[in-house]
Amino acid sequence: MFIGHFAVAFAAKRAAPTVSLGTLFLAAQLADLMWPVLVLLDIEKVEVKPGITALTPLDFTHYPYSHSLLALIGWALVFTIAYAFARRARMGVAITIAAVILSHWFLDLLTHRADMPLTLGGTHRFGFGLWNSVLGTVLVEGTLFAAGVILYARATRPADPIGSRAFWGLVVFLLVVYVASIFGPPPSSGVTAAWAAMAMWIIVAWGYWVDAHRRPSRRVWD
Ligand SMILES: [Zn+2]
Repeated sequence: MFIGHFAVAFAAKRAAPTVSLGTLFLAAQLADLMWPVLVLLDIEKVEVKPGITALTPLDFTHYPYSHSLLALIGWALVFTIAYAFARRARMGVAITIAAVILSHWFLDLLTHRADMPLTLGGTHRFGFGLWNSVLGTVLVEGTLFAAGVILYARATRPADPIGSRAFWGLVVFLLVVYVASIFGPPPSSGVTAAWAAMAMWIIVAWGYWVDAHRRPSRRVWD
């Protein structure tokens, strides 16, 4: 799943208007932001096997630290507690951020082959395999993304022209990257795929930039 994770981050702005879109991107994609770093450090493993799913040629053979449910619960606790202390966030905000981090596992569960681990060392793997259908994946992710973008656009308003242009530029950019990832050639190796995935950090920065130029539509008390 790709744009579906960003959809959750966009939508979460409505529940937590004080949290920057960049932080919500970081939370929704924490697993996929850590994953390439761990692959490049040779701690997690991925192989390229064209045809393994209709959508992605990546075979995630070992990724318990970024993508097991247990690890994500741990990362959610660490990230949320750090944010809550640093920003003196209210309980509702902290719970929203933790839920956004955990949503990654459940959305990936829907799309991945049965390769999602529950624990760090266990052998059981889960996944409903929506990636076996390009049409099914695009319909589900596209619907989620449209809903998320609409919710964010209504929960905030541009504070200046950049707030509008940077936001819609980001929406178009995400859609272009999504289409390119589906129809583009497979990466030559797992390491190449990991380097490409590192570009996701740019999208996090873009989220902070957009959010700095937009204001909550409703009055925010915290
Ligand atoms: Zn993922």
